[in-house]
Amino acid sequence: METLCARVGDAAVMAVVKSDGYGHGAVTCAREALAAGASWLGTTTAEEALELRAAGLTARILCWLWVPGGPWREAIEADIDVSLGGMWALQEVTEAARAAGRPARVHLKAETGLSRNGVRPGEAWAEFVAAALRAQAEGLVRIVGLYSHFACADVPGHPSIAAQLTLFREMTAYAEEQGVRPEVRHLANSAAALTLPETHLDMVRIGIAMFGVSAGPGLGAPEEYGLRPVMSFRASLALVNQVPEGQGVSYGHYYVTAGETTLGLLPVGYADGVPRAASGSELVLVDGKRCTIAGRVAMDMCVVDLGGDTPPVGSEVVLFGPGDHGESTAADWAAACATIPYEIVTRIGARIPRVYL
Ligand code: PLP
Repeated sequence: METLCARVGDAAVMAVVKSDGYGHGAVTCAREALAAGASWLGTTTAEEALELRAAGLTARILCWLWVPGGPWREAIEADIDVSLGGMWALQEVTEAARAAGRPARVHLKAETGLSRNGVRPGEAWAEFVAAALRAQAEGLVRIVGLYSHFACADVPGHPSIAAQLTLFREMTAYAEEQGVRPEVRHLANSAAALTLPETHLDMVRIGIAMFGVSAGPGLGAPEEYGLRPVMSFRASLALVNQVPEGQGVSYGHYYVTAGETTLGLLPVGYADGVPRAASGSELVLVDGKRCTIAGRVAMDMCVVDLGGDTPPVGSEVVLFGPGDHGESTAADWAAACATIPYEIVTRIGARIPRVYL
């Protein structure tokens, strides 16, 4: 986080710790990030934000995904900033603010090209800004932020990047002409924070880069930015069995031993975040040697082909880590499973203990 704060200079840093801190543990990561220079926290849901408050974190928190009937009042009372991406949300938050007897701090979300939640440019934005200003005049909201989110910041040179930045500037300029005085205008995610200084504005919202994981293959390895993956996924060998040639392994017998070999049992499966799509890939480090996942990954366990070696039961198995001791990285798993490293780390299941060193 220090590296990232230094990189973005004067812009404030929001540490995005949604989805249990991308699988790393939201509360611990939030504390570490704040201690290392971040000044805001970001979550998807109000429940995630409330969990941070319940843990005693007092920093500013923004949560950005709402569905009708959400816990607006609890968020206001817990001093959580809320994102408004449409008229219905403005209406619900003003009702909650009236009931709470205090204004809600709101960030107006401009839809600039991702085509997800946010208010589209033109008439919709004009009506939304006007309605938000009316609610502010009534003392029901304080408009503290204007923001948007990139679609393709991880693809260097993608034409949508400049288009979104230009549109965001136009939409914020319009809102400011109407009288909005935002504390923070924010647009950049990790990829933009790392590579697009012109997008930093008042604040950047950093998720994946904070965990030392690549925001996209087009951006190069995290090490190129002075970052290092913080998560290692380890297990211990639960069983070692000698098996003959022609032995089918795991459900469906999609793996059949090519000769006499040894099989090791790992007590982790797809419920723990080991993707089924990893079956057959040489991704697991057992006793310093890369081994193939033999056959289907099951819910709670999977089998590796130890190639005749007989490491003792209890030997350390590294599924992934920073990659500097022969182990795979989350990016290697993502490449083998046709997904992104975000999904690999975020999917680590709740029953895997998080140990902070
Ligand atoms: N801001 C918003 C609104 C997001 O939804 C996300 C994550 O998807 C982020 C910031 C952080 O993105 P990244 O993890 O790529 O930094």
